[in-house]
Amino acid sequence: MSKKKDYYSILGLEKTASDADIKKAYRKLAMQHHPDRNPNDKKAEGLFKEATEAYEILGDKDKRARYDKYGHEGMHAGSDYHSYANSNDIFSQFSDIFGNIFGQQAGRQQRRSGPTPTQGHDLAYEVTISLKEALVGCKKEIKVYHYIPCDTCKNTGCKPGKTATACGTCHGSGSTTMQQGFFAFSQPCHACSGNGFTISDPCATCRGQSRVQKYETLTVTIPAGIYRGADLRITNKGDAGTFAGPAGNLYVKVSITPDANFQRRDNDLVCNLTLTYAQLVLGAQLEVESLDGSTHTVKVPKGCPVGHEIVIVGKGFPRLQGTGAGNLVYIAQCAIPKKLSSEAKEALLAYDKAVEHENSGIRGFFKKFLG
Ligand SMILES: [Zn+2]
Ligand SMILES: [Zn+2]
Repeated sequence: MSKKKDYYSILGLEKTASDADIKKAYRKLAMQHHPDRNPNDKKAEGLFKEATEAYEILGDKDKRARYDKYGHEGMHAGSDYHSYANSNDIFSQFSDIFGNIFGQQAGRQQRRSGPTPTQGHDLAYEVTISLKEALVGCKKEIKVYHYIPCDTCKNTGCKPGKTATACGTCHGSGSTTMQQGFFAFSQPCHACSGNGFTISDPCATCRGQSRVQKYETLTVTIPAGIYRGADLRITNKGDAGTFAGPAGNLYVKVSITPDANFQRRDNDLVCNLTLTYAQLVLGAQLEVESLDGSTHTVKVPKGCPVGHEIVIVGKGFPRLQGTGAGNLVYIAQCAIPKKLSSEAKEALLAYDKAVEHENSGIRGFFKKFLG
């Protein structure tokens, strides 16, 4: 095994170098030997890795102290030491530095074989359901106009059998690096508009776009208990990405048409239960039908006040988060007839007279209006 080179001499520094010196020296070497600037140059790649390894140690306070004390041996003994097998690891470790020099993509940069993939857009869609459908759940078919990967060229944008060619200016990276004094920055390559590649034989179906816009019918499963304004995410059903980039998501917003009889109150299903005065006073037992068609026996208590809530536990909207369901709630109301037969009117007046002494407190002032 050949003797390992001293990390300081790799970076061209003395042992007394400051943190800033180390960073600056590494930056300079990394710029010079970076694989993107020296394609297929094994020597440059070796120097780049060497410099990176040196910086990985000397750029870290603890590791540098250990190295100063024990040399290379001390580094191998440590459990946190690892040598980098490939340059992707290096990029992800040093993205803080490469983020500046080689653009945002540096951390993940790989030698690509085609144009820069981009992610497809998220799309929004609205679906309207009835309150009953929100209670029991449903499936809805929606027709979505979105980008899908071009089948003819398999998302490559090229005529079958043809490939994209790397841009001569940026060698496929899509960006070029500018240096001004100590500062270096990258910008999209103007020769290829940042694509990195040019397509000289575009696919006839998508005209080199790698994706096409089409209507697609999708079935959306809407869970029981869905609330108004909820966004359902349908993964990867937004626009397809370009050049095999990831697809966006489709967000389906749920709108709910009001029901004539039933309302939602949190997870409760609420309905007015209109009763006669006699039913309210004497109590009653009746069969009622809920929104989902199920029937329930409702017991109206004796002397039931208007606004009293009769609760049937667990028959409301299922909870989307957690378990169980809200309640089915009937609110007692009193039916007030607008017209009465003379017979009914007589009976009502007779009744009123019969209970006169019980209601003396509330009568008094109003008495003269009766009859
Ligand atoms: Zn270019
Ligand atoms: Zn195509």
